[in-house]
Amino acid sequence: MKILVINCGSSSLKYQLFDMDNEEVMVKGLVERIGIEGSRLIQEKGDDEYIIKEAMKDHTEAVSYVFDALVDEENGVIKNLEEIDAVGHRFVHGGEKITKSSLITDEVKEAIEEYTKFAPLHNPANLMGLKACEKLLPNVPNVAVFDTAFHQTMPAKTYLYGIDYKYYEEDGIRKYGFHGTSHNFITNKTAELLGKEKEDLNIISAHLGNGSSITAVKNGKSFDTSMGLTPLEGLIMGTRSGDIDPAAITYLMENKNIGPKDMENILNKESGVLGVSGVSSDFRDLEAAAEKGNERAQYALDIFITRVKRYIAGYMAEIGSVDAIVFTGGIGENSIGMRADIMDGFQQFGIKIDQDKNNVRGGAHVISTDDSKVKIMVVATNEELMIARDTQALVELDK
Ligand code: AMP
Repeated sequence: MKILVINCGSSSLKYQLFDMDNEEVMVKGLVERIGIEGSRLIQEKGDDEYIIKEAMKDHTEAVSYVFDALVDEENGVIKNLEEIDAVGHRFVHGGEKITKSSLITDEVKEAIEEYTKFAPLHNPANLMGLKACEKLLPNVPNVAVFDTAFHQTMPAKTYLYGIDYKYYEEDGIRKYGFHGTSHNFITNKTAELLGKEKEDLNIISAHLGNGSSITAVKNGKSFDTSMGLTPLEGLIMGTRSGDIDPAAITYLMENKNIGPKDMENILNKESGVLGVSGVSSDFRDLEAAAEKGNERAQYALDIFITRVKRYIAGYMAEIGSVDAIVFTGGIGENSIGMRADIMDGFQQFGIKIDQDKNNVRGGAHVISTDDSKVKIMVVATNEELMIARDTQALVELDK
């Protein structure tokens, strides 16, 4: 079975075509600057790059160029589009209506429309990709895989905020959580690696990248997570503030005359480690700057490390017994120093990182000492493969 996975942003589209017989990526690509001058598609097949530079005024045109690239005689990987059995789409927000990956139905579309209120940039872009596929591949089933779905198992005590309950009832203000596809993949993979049933697995899944979130997984299900109503809550991120006293925001809005849209932009795009350091949102740049003595870059890294520790320790107490603390995402998989600094301080609880074993990037490894009370692991995430697997399962079920 061949499955196309599509992840649409407001002006971009990423895609991968999977051959599910061996779960291999046949080809992957990226369309940039959709609806902006200079649109282009870059497709990678092994080491070869195929680039199409054409005006693409919307996502329908972008998807049609993706199809052209897939069937291109010289650079493509399939002869005709009928070889695609299904398309899996990444969706950000499915709110309380969507608890698992779903074949597209009217109810699923309604939920996507409804929760656009909390994901105003993402849900409409994701929907454009879906509509383009429905138009251009009318006989191929589409599946929606949601970032929020995995977290719908959280109990009220972890998803409710400390505000008047009416705002939950009337407006849906609560924690939804994100990166669910990644945390779900990590849970499945860790269960497999440790030889445990998913239902018996308790882990702390730390997805640390440009956007970061930590999830407490209890009995294979999300029990608590650091992102909230939107992906702004929790850890300090590349450009997002993470946790902050809400009074700081109302104070700034009032005293600096900042409107809600501008404030949202400041908190999402101009804050985080970029805002604190004034150097970069990229952790490699920050590590390099801090090494040269840049104080603010060091503050940014220290805030990040402190918050990751705080969430890991808090979540361990929440779920009681933990099989593994698992690092993933660009930073979690690659930054040997960050992992060592985050785990420093846990020795007193018998949780010990092995500095030699920690000297790895990506893959799947245990990096704790043999006598560590809780395993520490690095597991590379693969959200696209998770989307492809869910899509395959739903399409086969529907046959
Ligand atoms: P992601 O959003 O998951 O792609 O992660 C991107 C982040 O991972 C960026 O901040 C990168 O600086 C960081 N990253 C990638 N490779 C490394 C590395 N070798 N050392 C430190 N950070 C890294």
